[in-house]
Amino acid sequence: MSTLNKKTVEDIAVAGKKVLVRCDFNVKMENGVITSDKRIVASLPTIRYLIDNNARVILCSHLGRPKGEVNPEFSMAPVAARLSELLGKEVKLAKDVVGESAQALAAELKDGEVLLLENVRFEPGETKNDPELSKKFASLAEIYVNDAFGSAHRAHSSTTGVADYLPSAVGYLMKKEIEYIGGALEDPKRPLVAILGGAKVSDKIGVINNLLDKCDKLIIGGGMAYTFFAAQGLNVGDSLVDNDNLENAREMMAKAKAMGKPFLLPVDNKIATRYDVNAPYMRIYSDSIPDGWMGLDIGPVTSELFAKSIQDAGTIIWNGPMGVTEMPQFEDGTIAVAKAIAETDAISIIGGGDSAAAIKKLGFADKMSHISTGGGASLEFLEGKELPGIACIDEK
Ligand code: AMP
Repeated sequence: MSTLNKKTVEDIAVAGKKVLVRCDFNVKMENGVITSDKRIVASLPTIRYLIDNNARVILCSHLGRPKGEVNPEFSMAPVAARLSELLGKEVKLAKDVVGESAQALAAELKDGEVLLLENVRFEPGETKNDPELSKKFASLAEIYVNDAFGSAHRAHSSTTGVADYLPSAVGYLMKKEIEYIGGALEDPKRPLVAILGGAKVSDKIGVINNLLDKCDKLIIGGGMAYTFFAAQGLNVGDSLVDNDNLENAREMMAKAKAMGKPFLLPVDNKIATRYDVNAPYMRIYSDSIPDGWMGLDIGPVTSELFAKSIQDAGTIIWNGPMGVTEMPQFEDGTIAVAKAIAETDAISIIGGGDSAAAIKKLGFADKMSHISTGGGASLEFLEGKELPGIACIDEK
């Protein structure tokens, strides 16, 4: 099923209509104070569009894990206050999610006004995608908009179930994720090159499998690479190896070979005696890793090889760092790949989570076409899984 033909906020008439928008306001908080409002800021384009087009805007989100119980520690009050400042207009806060307060305030809303519901996870039915709760969400509004990509892989009442009862569309944040990730998977500018790194093969075997079908070249770096070496019978010393996935690794390499697709692994590595910022380290070729040492970054020859092999890419999907970027001596490979991507004319898509954080920390964020806002959601999207929060939305 294609994700590319989903309705967006621009495809529906919103003037005078009550529009329920599922946002991702799951902001970082400490002692009741928001420490990063990035997610609120990211939601502004959709909210502003709706205000400017005279919709009656009803926002909702989860915040933390209140586990189906009302808990003031997870109240949306700080979000309402910050959002109010950012929008320069009042954001009313309901005292509940779908109860009397929410119903009354939603009914009173005038064109261009904004209401925020309490934390959707105060409702025990939310994470169970309870149809009764979904109907209550739907009863508040006339249109449903999902703009919470970070929760799109979860079939919950406010992310999925509610769409059974209302006309629906995606917001701008979701639209961008679909355009880039969905676009790369369904209709990429070729050649499509996938670069995968990070620690765990188990997390990414599904991604490797799906991307092998779609891409023209697959590059593997980071801790993951050592499982592929071990699968070929090479000595990897104390490097990270996922013994449960050796067979999967062999299968992936065989699949690439059968499909005639280049499957690149590091040719050299930076290895250390311990996983420690003060440990002695050296560079070595991949077939010579001695016992007692572990690979913690790709080596300079590999950096050059990887850089060269993405030069002519039309689209690049990157998920996972090439080494332990938490330690400065093992961040060179990731920096080299980030630089090489920045120097291409390719559409570059960075998966969420650790790779997005590494790219931002290393200062390459503005050089990428798209940095996904969802960790788990972007991985499942890349795996080719249907995301319930997107699948539930009406098509054009
Ligand atoms: P992931 O969440 O799977 O993208 O993995 C990110 C993590 O992988 C980061 O914390 C890196 O430090 C770690 N990582 C990358 N390369 C290696 C390596 N060679 N050995 C151990 N951990 C690594």
